[in-house]
Amino acid sequence: MFKKILIANRGEIALRVIQACRELGIRTVAVFSTADRDSLHVTYADEDVCIGPGPSAQSYLNISAIISAAEITGAEAVHPGYGFLAENASFADALKECKIQWIGPGTDSMRLMGNKSQARQTAIRAGVPVLPGSEEALGSAAEARALAGQVGYPVILKASAGGGGRGMRIVQGPDELEQQLQTASEEASAAFGDGAIYLEKYLVEPRHIEFQILGDCYGNVIELGERECSIQRRHQKLLEEAPSPALTAELRHQMGEAAVRLARHVSYENAGTIEFLLDRTGRFYFMEMNTRIQVEHPVTEMVTGVDLVKQQLRIAAGEKLSVAPGLHSRGHAIECRINAEHPVTFRPSPGKILTFHPPGGPGVRVDTHAYEDYVIPPYYDSLVAKLIVHGADRQEAIRRMERALDFFVIEGIDTSIPLHREIVRDDRFRIGDVSTRFMERFRPQKTKSAPVGA
Ligand code: ADP
Repeated sequence: MFKKILIANRGEIALRVIQACRELGIRTVAVFSTADRDSLHVTYADEDVCIGPGPSAQSYLNISAIISAAEITGAEAVHPGYGFLAENASFADALKECKIQWIGPGTDSMRLMGNKSQARQTAIRAGVPVLPGSEEALGSAAEARALAGQVGYPVILKASAGGGGRGMRIVQGPDELEQQLQTASEEASAAFGDGAIYLEKYLVEPRHIEFQILGDCYGNVIELGERECSIQRRHQKLLEEAPSPALTAELRHQMGEAAVRLARHVSYENAGTIEFLLDRTGRFYFMEMNTRIQVEHPVTEMVTGVDLVKQQLRIAAGEKLSVAPGLHSRGHAIECRINAEHPVTFRPSPGKILTFHPPGGPGVRVDTHAYEDYVIPPYYDSLVAKLIVHGADRQEAIRRMERALDFFVIEGIDTSIPLHREIVRDDRFRIGDVSTRFMERFRPQKTKSAPVGA
């Protein structure tokens, strides 16, 4: 096992990795921007290195500063967390050249699955169902028009290099197509440095269901069940749960098997997630793969009892998978993402936290880097805490989440706590009748022709 690793991230996920390292006896190096000097990941790491000013392009995305920090401190490996450089294969390659281990998958599978349109083709080759759409990135507006006509409107245009709910546009009819394609391509070039766009059928009220995968370097690949992430705003997840109330044992088996088949097809190592859309008739379609730990990994940890971050460290250190396939999950877990944002307008609300009382008690877990008097910097994403509960069944988990939300006091900034209270009290949510358009009932959003994403 490693003696010392560097964590190329901040916030709650940096702390989460530190917790796993402590339990495994691994020393930790935190990197931080000048805006994060007072962050808990800096306090709890064994060593820390300042890598630049607040804006992430100059700090958390600064590859040479991070590699220098690893070399100076003698870190043997780097954990990237999620976001920032977590899916950047060039960063992983650069580390390899410096003889520093990447705590993540091989760069071939990162490149293959990191490009959404290539990932789609790979899924087809692995015999995993995808939505009708383009085989490759679109060559011209005429090609897009012909294809959209074939698959039928509405269709969704997606940036091949996109992610994080950004770079997607829904097209309702042929008269909008050309304009939307041009705008989508321009936006994708600006945001991701790659204007390639592909097209697929837009499902009107699907559920988002994803499978957690673990693979080791001996070719063992397992799945640890699903997470339902249908409660989203602007195509970004807000609340996740495991297991999904929509899956029968048979469907769970089929989807899990498809996820493992795809991961095996790309010789996947380490933790990853295969995302599917499920339609009302029970048909499922591969959407994309995330080649890293996910924000919502704790719900899987709660129902399986497997520490996914420790597994990532063990796999990267060359250990054989110690989790047996066919693991049974226990009870029900729900996660609410508590964001520093206005609960109605979703406007970010950085600033000083004046009061911070997280809930506790049976079955409650809070993953956070926040504390009283902590100042949330304006530069990064708005996640302040993840509130996770575990109950014997879904009903108990919902009641427990209601109670935990009521006992969570954050003052000084706006948060999404009031919104989560509304969601968990909703009748449709309580019977598990949800889709990715669930939030439109609370917060009407423009879907027609409007850009989707942040
Ligand atoms: P990102 O990588 O940017 O998060 P995804 O491809 O994972 O993008 O899609 C994010 C969300 O967008 C999904 O959870 C779903 O709500 C919506 N979405 C994506 N593709 C489709 C589709 N073909 N039909 C309906 N909704 C879709």
